[in-house]
Amino acid sequence: MNIAVIGAGISGMSAAYELNRAGHRVFVFARAFSPNITSNRAAAFWLPYHIRNDNRGIDWCRKSYEVYLELSKDPSTGISMKQLIKVVANDVTEVDQTWKDFMPPGSYRPIPLTQLLPGYLEGDEAEVPLIETQIFLPWLQQQLVMAGVSFHQQEIIAFDQLDDHDLIVNCTGLGARELCKDEQLIPYRGQVALLAPKENLPIFLDNEKPQYIVPRKDAIIIGGTYEENVFEEVTEPKTIEFLLQKAFMIYPELAMQEYLGSWAGLRPHRNEVRLERENNIIHNYGHGGSGFTLAFGCAADVVKLVSE
Ligand SMILES: Cc1cc2nc3c(=O)[nH]c(=O)nc-3n(C[C@H](O)[C@H](O)[C@H](O)COP(=O)(O)OP(=O)(O)OC[C@H]3O[C@@H](n4cnc5c(N)ncnc54)[C@H](O)[C@@H]3O)c2cc1C
Repeated sequence: MNIAVIGAGISGMSAAYELNRAGHRVFVFARAFSPNITSNRAAAFWLPYHIRNDNRGIDWCRKSYEVYLELSKDPSTGISMKQLIKVVANDVTEVDQTWKDFMPPGSYRPIPLTQLLPGYLEGDEAEVPLIETQIFLPWLQQQLVMAGVSFHQQEIIAFDQLDDHDLIVNCTGLGARELCKDEQLIPYRGQVALLAPKENLPIFLDNEKPQYIVPRKDAIIIGGTYEENVFEEVTEPKTIEFLLQKAFMIYPELAMQEYLGSWAGLRPHRNEVRLERENNIIHNYGHGGSGFTLAFGCAADVVKLVSE
Protein backbone atom coordinates (compact mmCIF):
# COMPACT_ATOMS: atom_id res chain seq x y z
CA MET A 1 0.00 0.00 0.00
CA ASN A 2 0.96 3.65 -0.40
CA ILE A 3 0.95 5.05 3.14
CA ALA A 4 1.36 8.67 4.23
CA VAL A 5 2.75 9.10 7.74
CA ILE A 6 2.21 12.57 9.18
CA GLY A 7 4.90 13.49 11.70
CA ALA A 8 8.65 12.92 11.93
CA GLY A 9 8.98 12.56 15.69
CA ILE A 10 9.69 9.19 17.29
CA SER A 11 6.07 8.07 16.79
CA GLY A 12 6.08 8.82 13.06
CA MET A 13 9.61 7.58 12.43
CA SER A 14 9.08 4.27 14.24
CA ALA A 15 5.76 3.77 12.39
CA ALA A 16 7.48 4.52 9.07
CA TYR A 17 10.25 2.03 9.99
CA GLU A 18 7.85 -0.83 10.80
CA LEU A 19 5.55 -0.09 7.83
CA ASN A 20 8.51 -0.08 5.46
CA ARG A 21 9.73 -3.39 6.89
CA ALA A 22 6.26 -4.80 6.36
CA GLY A 23 6.61 -4.01 2.65
CA HIS A 24 4.55 -0.82 2.27
CA ARG A 25 5.57 2.31 0.30
CA VAL A 26 5.91 5.03 2.91
CA PHE A 27 5.85 8.83 2.51
CA VAL A 28 6.55 10.97 5.59
CA PHE A 29 5.04 14.48 5.75
CA ALA A 30 6.00 16.83 8.58
CA ARG A 31 5.89 20.48 9.47
CA ALA A 32 9.26 20.13 11.26
CA PHE A 33 12.05 17.56 11.52
CA SER A 34 14.78 16.65 14.01
CA PRO A 35 16.23 18.58 15.82
CA ASN A 36 13.31 21.05 15.87
CA ILE A 37 10.66 18.78 17.39
CA THR A 38 9.55 17.57 20.84
CA SER A 39 11.25 14.22 20.29
CA ASN A 40 14.61 16.00 20.43
CA ARG A 41 13.72 17.51 23.82
CA ALA A 42 13.34 14.09 25.47
CA ALA A 43 15.91 12.81 27.95
CA ALA A 44 15.28 9.95 26.53
CA PHE A 45 15.47 6.76 28.52
CA TRP A 46 13.10 3.85 28.39
CA LEU A 47 10.71 3.84 31.35
CA PRO A 48 6.90 3.96 31.54
CA TYR A 49 5.98 7.43 32.79
CA HIS A 50 2.37 8.49 33.52
CA ILE A 51 0.84 5.90 31.17
CA ARG A 52 -0.09 3.35 33.76
CA ASN A 53 -3.83 3.83 33.29
CA ASP A 54 -3.40 2.36 29.80
CA ASN A 55 -2.93 -1.42 30.06
CA ARG A 56 -2.11 -1.75 26.37
CA GLY A 57 1.09 0.04 27.37
CA ILE A 58 2.62 -3.09 28.91
CA ASP A 59 2.97 -4.77 25.51
CA TRP A 60 4.01 -1.55 23.81
CA CYS A 61 6.73 -0.89 26.38
CA ARG A 62 8.11 -4.42 26.30
CA LYS A 63 8.16 -4.58 22.50
CA SER A 64 10.01 -1.24 22.38
CA TYR A 65 12.49 -2.46 24.99
CA GLU A 66 13.28 -5.49 22.80
CA VAL A 67 13.79 -3.31 19.71
CA TYR A 68 16.12 -0.89 21.54
CA LEU A 69 18.04 -3.79 23.10
CA GLU A 70 18.69 -5.16 19.61
CA LEU A 71 19.60 -1.73 18.19
CA SER A 72 21.98 -1.08 21.10
CA LYS A 73 24.29 -3.76 19.66
CA ASP A 74 25.21 -1.24 16.93
CA PRO A 75 26.84 1.83 18.58
CA SER A 76 26.09 4.02 15.53
CA THR A 77 22.38 4.00 16.54
CA GLY A 78 23.13 6.12 19.62
CA ILE A 79 21.31 3.58 21.81
CA SER A 80 23.01 1.96 24.79
CA MET A 81 21.90 -0.12 27.74
CA LYS A 82 22.42 1.79 31.00
CA GLN A 83 22.09 1.21 34.69
CA LEU A 84 19.04 3.03 36.12
CA ILE A 85 18.77 3.89 39.82
CA LYS A 86 15.11 4.55 40.64
CA VAL A 87 14.47 5.77 44.17
CA VAL A 88 11.62 6.87 46.45
CA ALA A 89 12.32 9.71 48.88
CA ASN A 90 11.59 9.48 52.63
CA ASP A 91 8.85 12.10 52.53
CA VAL A 92 6.71 10.39 49.86
CA THR A 93 3.46 9.08 51.34
CA GLU A 94 1.98 7.24 48.34
CA VAL A 95 4.44 5.12 46.41
CA ASP A 96 3.31 4.04 42.94
CA GLN A 97 4.91 0.70 42.16
CA THR A 98 2.79 -0.14 39.11
CA TRP A 99 5.73 0.71 36.82
CA LYS A 100 7.07 -2.73 37.72
CA ASP A 101 4.20 -4.38 35.80
CA PHE A 102 5.59 -2.80 32.65
CA MET A 103 9.18 -3.98 33.13
CA PRO A 104 10.48 -6.99 31.19
CA PRO A 105 10.78 -9.93 33.61
CA GLY A 106 14.10 -9.95 35.48
CA SER A 107 15.08 -6.44 34.35
CA TYR A 108 15.06 -4.83 37.83
CA ARG A 109 16.03 -5.69 41.42
CA PRO A 110 15.75 -3.89 44.78
CA ILE A 111 18.73 -1.88 46.03
CA PRO A 112 19.72 -2.91 49.61
CA LEU A 113 18.83 -0.16 52.14
CA THR A 114 22.49 0.23 53.13
CA GLN A 115 23.41 1.20 49.55
CA LEU A 116 20.76 3.93 49.18
CA LEU A 117 21.76 7.61 49.21
CA PRO A 118 20.64 9.51 52.35
CA GLY A 119 17.04 10.77 52.15
CA TYR A 120 15.68 7.77 50.29
CA LEU A 121 13.31 5.15 51.62
CA GLU A 122 13.69 2.51 48.95
CA GLY A 123 15.02 2.01 45.46
CA ASP A 124 15.41 -0.33 42.54
CA GLU A 125 18.14 -0.85 40.04
CA ALA A 126 17.36 -1.73 36.42
CA GLU A 127 18.96 -1.95 33.03
CA VAL A 128 17.19 0.22 30.48
CA PRO A 129 17.84 1.58 26.98
CA LEU A 130 19.12 5.16 26.75
CA ILE A 131 18.19 6.63 23.39
CA GLU A 132 20.41 9.55 22.47
CA THR A 133 17.88 11.44 20.38
CA GLN A 134 20.52 13.65 18.73
CA ILE A 135 22.11 10.50 17.25
CA PHE A 136 19.19 8.11 16.92
CA LEU A 137 16.68 10.29 15.07
CA PRO A 138 19.10 11.23 12.24
CA TRP A 139 20.29 7.58 12.13
CA LEU A 140 16.69 6.38 11.77
CA GLN A 141 15.94 8.94 9.06
CA GLN A 142 19.02 7.84 7.13
CA GLN A 143 17.97 4.17 7.36
CA LEU A 144 14.52 5.09 6.09
CA VAL A 145 15.87 7.12 3.16
CA MET A 146 18.13 4.20 2.19
CA ALA A 147 15.10 1.89 2.35
CA GLY A 148 13.17 4.13 -0.07
CA VAL A 149 10.98 6.16 2.32
CA SER A 150 10.53 9.74 1.10
CA PHE A 151 10.37 12.82 3.34
CA HIS A 152 8.37 15.97 2.60
CA GLN A 153 8.31 19.16 4.63
CA GLN A 154 4.64 20.15 4.59
CA GLU A 155 2.04 21.25 7.11
CA ILE A 156 -1.15 19.17 6.87
CA ILE A 157 -4.24 21.21 7.69
CA ALA A 158 -6.82 18.61 6.64
CA PHE A 159 -6.45 14.87 6.05
CA ASP A 160 -8.00 15.11 2.55
CA GLN A 161 -4.76 16.76 1.40
CA LEU A 162 -3.37 13.21 1.43
CA ASP A 163 -6.31 11.48 -0.30
CA ASP A 164 -4.05 10.15 -3.05
CA HIS A 165 -2.62 7.63 -0.53
CA ASP A 166 -4.30 4.35 0.43
CA LEU A 167 -3.91 5.07 4.15
CA ILE A 168 -2.81 7.88 6.46
CA VAL A 169 -1.02 7.37 9.79
CA ASN A 170 -1.43 10.38 12.04
CA CYS A 171 1.62 10.79 14.33
CA THR A 172 1.40 14.53 14.89
CA GLY A 173 1.97 14.58 18.66
CA LEU A 174 0.59 17.79 20.11
CA GLY A 175 -0.26 18.90 16.55
CA ALA A 176 -3.31 16.58 16.74
CA ARG A 177 -4.98 19.14 19.03
CA GLU A 178 -5.68 21.21 15.93
CA LEU A 179 -5.68 18.57 13.23
CA CYS A 180 -8.22 16.34 15.05
CA LYS A 181 -9.79 19.02 17.26
CA ASP A 182 -8.81 16.80 20.19
CA GLU A 183 -8.97 18.82 23.38
CA GLN A 184 -8.15 15.79 25.52
CA LEU A 185 -4.62 16.33 24.28
CA ILE A 186 -2.72 18.85 26.40
CA PRO A 187 0.93 19.85 26.84
CA TYR A 188 2.90 19.02 29.97
CA ARG A 189 5.96 21.21 29.79
CA GLY A 190 9.33 19.77 30.79
CA GLN A 191 12.28 22.03 31.54
CA VAL A 192 15.80 20.60 31.79
CA ALA A 193 19.32 21.89 32.42
CA LEU A 194 22.45 20.63 30.65
CA LEU A 195 25.89 20.04 32.15
CA ALA A 196 29.11 18.96 30.45
CA PRO A 197 29.25 15.17 30.01
CA LYS A 198 30.87 12.87 32.54
CA GLU A 199 31.61 9.15 32.29
CA ASN A 200 30.39 6.33 34.53
CA LEU A 201 27.20 7.95 35.82
CA PRO A 202 24.03 5.85 36.02
CA ILE A 203 20.63 7.24 35.04
CA PHE A 204 19.10 8.52 38.30
CA LEU A 205 15.34 8.85 38.71
CA ASP A 206 13.13 10.01 41.55
CA ASN A 207 9.78 9.66 39.80
CA GLU A 208 7.62 11.41 42.34
CA LYS A 209 9.46 14.76 42.41
CA PRO A 210 10.22 14.41 39.39
CA GLN A 211 14.03 14.47 39.34
CA TYR A 212 16.26 12.76 36.82
CA ILE A 213 19.91 12.82 35.83
CA VAL A 214 20.67 11.36 32.42
CA PRO A 215 24.27 10.93 31.21
CA ARG A 216 24.33 11.36 27.43
CA LYS A 217 27.50 11.56 25.33
CA ASP A 218 27.05 15.27 24.61
CA ALA A 219 25.64 16.41 27.99
CA ILE A 220 24.22 15.37 31.33
CA ILE A 221 20.51 16.17 31.26
CA ILE A 222 19.19 17.40 34.60
CA GLY A 223 15.42 17.28 34.72
CA GLY A 224 12.82 18.07 35.07
CA THR A 225 9.47 19.69 35.45
CA TYR A 226 6.01 18.33 34.64
CA GLU A 227 3.86 21.42 34.13
CA GLU A 228 0.25 20.78 33.15
CA ASN A 229 -1.29 22.80 30.32
CA VAL A 230 1.70 25.11 29.86
CA PHE A 231 2.14 25.98 26.16
CA GLU A 232 5.22 28.24 26.31
CA GLU A 233 8.23 26.23 25.17
CA VAL A 234 10.73 28.21 27.26
CA THR A 235 12.83 27.63 30.37
CA GLU A 236 12.76 29.82 33.47
CA PRO A 237 16.12 30.70 35.11
CA LYS A 238 14.75 30.15 38.65
CA THR A 239 13.47 26.67 37.80
CA ILE A 240 16.74 25.71 36.12
CA GLU A 241 18.71 26.86 39.16
CA PHE A 242 16.39 24.84 41.42
CA LEU A 243 16.86 21.68 39.29
CA LEU A 244 20.65 22.10 39.36
CA GLN A 245 20.80 22.57 43.14
CA LYS A 246 18.69 19.43 43.67
CA ALA A 247 21.01 17.46 41.38
CA PHE A 248 24.11 18.72 43.25
CA MET A 249 22.61 17.38 46.49
CA ILE A 250 22.27 13.93 44.92
CA TYR A 251 25.69 13.83 43.19
CA PRO A 252 27.85 16.66 44.64
CA GLU A 253 30.56 16.04 42.01
CA LEU A 254 28.17 17.40 39.36
CA ALA A 255 28.77 20.92 40.72
CA MET A 256 32.20 20.72 39.03
CA GLN A 257 30.69 20.22 35.55
CA GLU A 258 30.41 23.19 33.19
CA TYR A 259 26.84 24.51 32.70
CA LEU A 260 25.91 24.15 29.01
CA GLY A 261 22.40 25.59 28.87
CA SER A 262 18.78 24.50 29.11
CA TRP A 263 15.74 23.63 27.03
CA ALA A 264 12.01 23.03 27.38
CA GLY A 265 9.69 20.65 25.55
CA LEU A 266 5.93 20.04 25.49
CA ARG A 267 4.91 16.44 26.18
CA PRO A 268 1.79 15.50 24.17
CA HIS A 269 -0.30 14.22 27.11
CA ARG A 270 -3.61 12.40 26.74
CA ASN A 271 -5.33 10.31 29.37
CA GLU A 272 -4.91 7.36 27.00
CA VAL A 273 -2.73 7.14 23.90
CA ARG A 274 -4.94 7.43 20.80
CA LEU A 275 -4.01 4.40 18.74
CA GLU A 276 -6.99 3.37 16.61
CA ARG A 277 -8.22 3.21 13.05
CA GLU A 278 -10.87 5.62 11.77
CA ASN A 279 -11.71 4.64 8.16
CA ASN A 280 -8.50 5.25 6.18
CA ILE A 281 -6.74 7.08 9.03
CA ILE A 282 -4.76 5.37 11.79
CA HIS A 283 -4.21 7.69 14.74
CA ASN A 284 -1.06 7.25 16.82
CA TYR A 285 -0.57 10.20 19.16
CA GLY A 286 -0.78 11.34 22.78
CA HIS A 287 2.26 9.48 24.18
CA GLY A 288 2.93 12.08 26.91
CA GLY A 289 6.21 11.55 28.74
CA SER A 290 6.75 8.06 27.26
CA GLY A 291 6.96 8.54 23.51
CA PHE A 292 10.28 6.69 23.18
CA THR A 293 9.28 4.02 25.70
CA LEU A 294 6.15 3.21 23.69
CA ALA A 295 7.21 3.95 20.10
CA PHE A 296 8.10 0.61 18.55
CA GLY A 297 5.30 -1.26 20.34
CA CYS A 298 2.79 1.27 19.01
CA ALA A 299 4.37 1.07 15.56
CA ALA A 300 3.85 -2.71 15.54
CA ASP A 301 0.15 -2.13 16.29
CA VAL A 302 -0.05 0.44 13.48
CA VAL A 303 1.14 -2.29 11.10
CA LYS A 304 -1.57 -4.65 12.44
CA LEU A 305 -4.25 -1.97 11.96
CA VAL A 306 -3.14 -1.48 8.34
CA SER A 307 -3.95 -5.08 7.51
CA GLU A 308 -7.37 -5.04 9.22
C1 LIG B 1 11.79 17.25 28.89
C2 LIG B 1 11.24 15.97 28.29
C3 LIG B 1 11.79 14.76 28.65
C4 LIG B 1 11.29 13.58 28.11
N1 LIG B 1 11.89 12.40 28.45
C5 LIG B 1 11.42 11.24 27.92
C6 LIG B 1 12.04 10.00 28.26
O1 LIG B 1 13.02 9.96 29.02
N2 LIG B 1 11.52 8.86 27.72
C7 LIG B 1 10.44 8.87 26.86
O2 LIG B 1 10.01 7.80 26.42
N3 LIG B 1 9.84 10.04 26.53
C8 LIG B 1 10.30 11.22 27.04
N4 LIG B 1 9.69 12.40 26.72
C9 LIG B 1 8.46 12.37 25.91
C10 LIG B 1 8.74 12.31 24.42
O3 LIG B 1 9.60 13.36 24.04
C11 LIG B 1 7.42 12.43 23.65
O4 LIG B 1 6.47 11.50 24.11
C12 LIG B 1 7.67 12.15 22.17
O5 LIG B 1 8.71 12.96 21.69
C13 LIG B 1 6.42 12.35 21.32
O6 LIG B 1 6.80 12.04 20.01
P1 LIG B 1 5.82 12.26 18.79
O7 LIG B 1 6.51 11.73 17.60
O8 LIG B 1 4.48 11.71 19.12
O9 LIG B 1 5.66 13.86 18.71
P2 LIG B 1 6.69 14.97 18.20
O10 LIG B 1 8.09 14.65 18.53
O11 LIG B 1 6.13 16.27 18.69
O12 LIG B 1 6.55 14.92 16.64
C14 LIG B 1 5.39 15.39 15.99
C15 LIG B 1 5.66 15.52 14.51
O13 LIG B 1 4.45 15.87 13.86
C16 LIG B 1 4.65 17.03 13.08
N5 LIG B 1 3.36 17.73 12.97
C17 LIG B 1 2.54 18.15 13.94
N6 LIG B 1 1.44 18.70 13.42
C18 LIG B 1 1.58 18.64 12.08
C19 LIG B 1 0.76 19.03 10.98
N7 LIG B 1 -0.42 19.62 11.16
N8 LIG B 1 1.23 18.83 9.72
C20 LIG B 1 2.44 18.24 9.51
N9 LIG B 1 3.23 17.84 10.52
C21 LIG B 1 2.81 18.03 11.77
C22 LIG B 1 5.74 17.78 13.80
O14 LIG B 1 6.35 18.73 12.96
C23 LIG B 1 6.67 16.62 14.17
O15 LIG B 1 7.43 16.25 13.06
C24 LIG B 1 10.18 13.62 27.21
C25 LIG B 1 9.65 14.84 26.84
C26 LIG B 1 10.17 16.01 27.37
C27 LIG B 1 9.57 17.32 26.94
